[in-house]
Amino acid sequence: MKYPEGLLKLARALSRLPGIGPKTAQRLALHLAFHQEEAGELKQALEGLAALRACRICGNLAEGELCPICQDEDRDRTLLAVVETVADLYALERSGEFPGLYHVLGGALNPLEGVGPKELRLESLWPRLSGVREVVLATSMTVEGEATALYLAEELKRRGVRASRLAYGLPVGGSLEYVDEVTLGRALEGRKPL
Ligand SMILES: [Zn+2]
Repeated sequence: MKYPEGLLKLARALSRLPGIGPKTAQRLALHLAFHQEEAGELKQALEGLAALRACRICGNLAEGELCPICQDEDRDRTLLAVVETVADLYALERSGEFPGLYHVLGGALNPLEGVGPKELRLESLWPRLSGVREVVLATSMTVEGEATALYLAEELKRRGVRASRLAYGLPVGGSLEYVDEVTLGRALEGRKPL
């Protein structure tokens, strides 16, 4: 059977999204073809994505120079959480337990994949440490995340800044992104000094 090109193109694009297989992609494309209003809303939302960029300070997504968290005067500026990705930052935000600011590394150390300290957003981290009383190393519980936390703990020690690590109880080998809010909140509360 031959499908219209527009439908195929949309299904192909959708199937590249995480968690969407070819069948779901086709179902979604068909749905949108018959619901032009929803398709219009989606189109508008996608166009809005182009205005997003990385926050100049922390690396979170921002609509201007700075993200909403960096702009928020009520956040505790003496507390900094280092995370691997923006998805991890959102996960911590959902826990509602972290009052400080963030720093997004853009990944974790992974020598086998050629990711060394230079590949992470570290140069912009060091100047942020003045006035910070504690850095929470909120990298994943994976081999790479642990290696990154250890590396950072050493660097922070050298710079005289206190570091802590999320409490265990978080699933080993997992990304923060998939941890529920309550578990993540508890891990934050029970963070251990390094
Ligand atoms: Zn920011």
